[in-house]
Amino acid sequence: MRILIGGGSGFVGRELTRLLRDKGHEVTLISRLPGPGKITWGELESQGLPPCEGAVNLAGENLMNPLRWWNESYKKDLFSSRIDTTKALSRAIAASSSPPHSWVLVSGVACYKPSLTAQYTEDSEWTPFDLLSRLVKEWEAAALLPENVAKTTKQVIIRPGAVLGRDGGAMKQMLLPFWLGLGGTLGSGRQPFPWIHVSDLAEIIVHALEPPADTPPSSSPQVFNGVAPALNTNYEFTKELGRVLRRPTILPVPGFVMNALLGSERAVVLTEGQKVIPKRTLESGFQYNYPDLTSALKEIVN
Ligand code: NDP
Repeated sequence: MRILIGGGSGFVGRELTRLLRDKGHEVTLISRLPGPGKITWGELESQGLPPCEGAVNLAGENLMNPLRWWNESYKKDLFSSRIDTTKALSRAIAASSSPPHSWVLVSGVACYKPSLTAQYTEDSEWTPFDLLSRLVKEWEAAALLPENVAKTTKQVIIRPGAVLGRDGGAMKQMLLPFWLGLGGTLGSGRQPFPWIHVSDLAEIIVHALEPPADTPPSSSPQVFNGVAPALNTNYEFTKELGRVLRRPTILPVPGFVMNALLGSERAVVLTEGQKVIPKRTLESGFQYNYPDLTSALKEIVN
């Protein structure tokens, strides 16, 4: 298959590109910058969708960019980098004379309201309740294809938890302090910590790119929670990472410090969390390589 990946130069995109190429597929990235194997967002808008059987959007300003202070301009970039790129791709798919058979958006679990007790599956109803859930609502709405195109193009939304891997995401920022014995629980530590290993997320995306089983595909998007089936808390994650690294984890970081450092609207992704069940992902027959924290963290650390 020929696969087009918006934001494919990033952490998840590099893993996905490697996996697709290993499986013999052709990958073209859409990027802000020109280069070999890439087109730019401007070229997508001016020249239309290049021939492809599948399209994915992974583009977005990093939510945990340590170099950016939490302010209105950063929030605006978080929204526009996701919504404008997603709209550009869905518009190009809709305008194409031969649209791809699959269109996959990777969004996030921030749509589910943080709770110590509630459990969320892909079928859970939700309405926006804060900044990040509003972002997910607008982002996923931007991906919707017109009805006539949805008759031939399967629409899939994957909602990952924290993506764990050596080369990016949360682990990249956490490994050094944990190595130095400065790691500890965040906030109360009791909050759920939905997570997935980056290679499992890449496999779920590849699974979603397969041609639709039903003809015509369902006109509304299929949603898959991109999380590991193990339900862990921040405390369990912290202790397991310390154990795998053989380092103490006795320095908790209080919630108010996280709020001051990150801004409270963003710190919620670490100080609060949701119990997210990958019900439909499991029902689809997907087999995780890293279903539990021990196997995932050992692969990352070793
Ligand atoms: P990255 O932070 O690695 O960014 C992906 C790509 O987005 C970059 O390589 C870049 O591509 C493009 N990008 C960055 N900033 C902008 C901008 N301001 N405007 C347009 N494009 C931009 O993301 P990940 O690979 O970690 O994540 C992929 C997707 O999954 C994102 O949408 C993210 O929100 C979502 N997600 C990630 C999680 C995680 O833990 N990593 C958790 C949950 C969801 P280029 O420079 O080529 O233009």
